[in-house]
Amino acid sequence: MTDKRHKRVMEFIEAFRVKPGSKVTLAKDFDPSFKAGVKKKKEGVALLAEGVRLLTEYQARLAAQDDYGVLLVLQALDAAGKDGTIRHVMSGVNPQGVSVHSFKVPSSEELDHDFLWRYQRRLPGRGEIGIFNRSHYEEVLVVRVHPENLDRQKLPTAARKDVWQRRYRQINDWERYLTDNGFRVVKVFLNLSKEEQRIRFLRRVDLPDHNWKFSTADVKERERWDDYQKAFSNMLSHTSTEWAPWYVIPADRKWFARLGAGAVLVNALMDLNPQFPKVDKAQRERLLEVKRTLEAQAPEGAAPDPFEEKQRAAEAAASDGRNGHSADAQVVVPPDASTTE
Ligand code: AMP
Ligand code: MG
Repeated sequence: MTDKRHKRVMEFIEAFRVKPGSKVTLAKDFDPSFKAGVKKKKEGVALLAEGVRLLTEYQARLAAQDDYGVLLVLQALDAAGKDGTIRHVMSGVNPQGVSVHSFKVPSSEELDHDFLWRYQRRLPGRGEIGIFNRSHYEEVLVVRVHPENLDRQKLPTAARKDVWQRRYRQINDWERYLTDNGFRVVKVFLNLSKEEQRIRFLRRVDLPDHNWKFSTADVKERERWDDYQKAFSNMLSHTSTEWAPWYVIPADRKWFARLGAGAVLVNALMDLNPQFPKVDKAQRERLLEVKRTLEAQAPEGAAPDPFEEKQRAAEAAASDGRNGHSADAQVVVPPDASTTE
């Protein structure tokens, strides 16, 4: 059953989803400054706070249910806001249930294996959310734009034939395998405009505390902007599948990128809808027996079950409030994208 809240989230992210089988031209099909009906930053920030709250709740349930795992794949150009997105979206979740891995230039040990090897080793376990900050998609992005990276991978000649088509297929197969085994693959591409990247690079140069984030290599990569746009478009066209679709999130506004990415992740968890395990009747009986034993051990003058007493008091206070004039808190969900500009 899809509840109303889930339906609103689904409607909100639908505009970002790359339809499996469609041919994407990034510049033509996706606008980096689109706001999907969220007019003001303030509104977006409030919605993100609600998303973070939902994520916290669902992550606790995911961990308790302990059969599904979730992998969030984050791809973007430099300065599109991957780090900030991770920091904000995951701000409420229990660190014990989350792992983040940032993929850099591969080591010689990694280059000595098949290209998916290093990614396979960093996958989340059941009950966990794993985040890939850059991912196996670098293998059809930076490696494609700079083919000398492919030379370093020491592929036999036969394996280099139609290598990009092959990799798309292999990635799709691998993600399908993971999905079939209970690991949901959630893919977010943060879509930044060339002008906004220029401004963010300048900011990193102008602010001394941000200098460390800037490398002259980033400007060199920027010169290959068109090649990257092509590689991203190709990647989106070939690897958005029914089991692991891509979401292209407008990233020219940081607050929107965070809200969009958060909504995509929340949607995946709502789909899985994990539940706290329920105990059966016999287990419940045993728990009540334990309760009676512990209650009998109460020191003189102490309540037999102080926790239960507190709970009762809280319930009574809540019921008084309801009888008065305080309304239940309204749940905030993204607005219907079709009704606002
Ligand atoms: P950053 O994310 O800014 O710390 O930079 C990481 C660097 O590693 C980027 O320049 C990526 O292009 C590079 N990188 C990540 N994965 C690969 C890969 N599979 N092959 C080559 N370079 C990579
Ligand atoms: Mg960098």
